[in-house]
Amino acid sequence: MTSPDYIVDIEGVATPGSPTPNKGATRLQGRPWLAVRWQCCSTYSRIYRNRAGSAYEGRCPRCQKSVRVGIGPEGSSNRFFEAS
Ligand SMILES: [Zn+2]
Repeated sequence: MTSPDYIVDIEGVATPGSPTPNKGATRLQGRPWLAVRWQCCSTYSRIYRNRAGSAYEGRCPRCQKSVRVGIGPEGSSNRFFEAS
C-alpha cells in the first residue's frame, strides 16, 4: 500500500532544477480576478473571487474603499469593472 504523502514529499525534493510545475504558482494563476478601475483614486487594481464563488471582492489600494461584484448568469461578461 502506497502512501500519497510520501509521493508528494519526493516531488518536493525533486522540484529545484526540474521542469515540474510549481503547484502553488499554478493555483495562484488559476484564481479568478477582475480588473477594477477605482474612480475614487484614479487607480487600477485586481480584485479576487471570494471563497464561496458568489462575488468578486476587494478594496481600493489607496483609500481602502471596498467593492463587491456579484457573480450571476445575468452578470456582465466584461472582465473590467469600474468602481465609482
Ligand atoms: Zn480609492
